[in-house]
Amino acid sequence: MRLFAGTQWDQPPRCERCERLESECKCPPLPPPPPQRVAPAKQTARLAIEHRKAGRSVTVVRGLPPGDNDLPALLTRLKAACGAGGTIKDETIEIQGQHLDRVRSSLAELGYKTKG
Ligand SMILES: [Zn+2]
Repeated sequence: MRLFAGTQWDQPPRCERCERLESECKCPPLPPPPPQRVAPAKQTARLAIEHRKAGRSVTVVRGLPPGDNDLPALLTRLKAACGAGGTIKDETIEIQGQHLDRVRSSLAELGYKTKG
């Protein structure tokens, strides 16, 4: 009789998903984990009002790299918070009109630090 027979140590390794022996497991490989992103609290968004042609002004958000942030989701949130249109240009979010306060508080709700 083997030393660990009948104890949990006697179990050959099994797949946690299908509970088959690992050598018989047919589970598809797990998708890769999402990329590690920098937490919002460790990022500082730089806010500014910029003036464009025809007297239009926009509120711009810089300093949030697309690799660490879901910029399209942020844009959607900021547009809703400001009740304004907006767009993403390169790594900058632009909201139409002057909405520094609303952009600042919306980003703060998500944990971002802001400057400007
Ligand atoms: Zn499996």
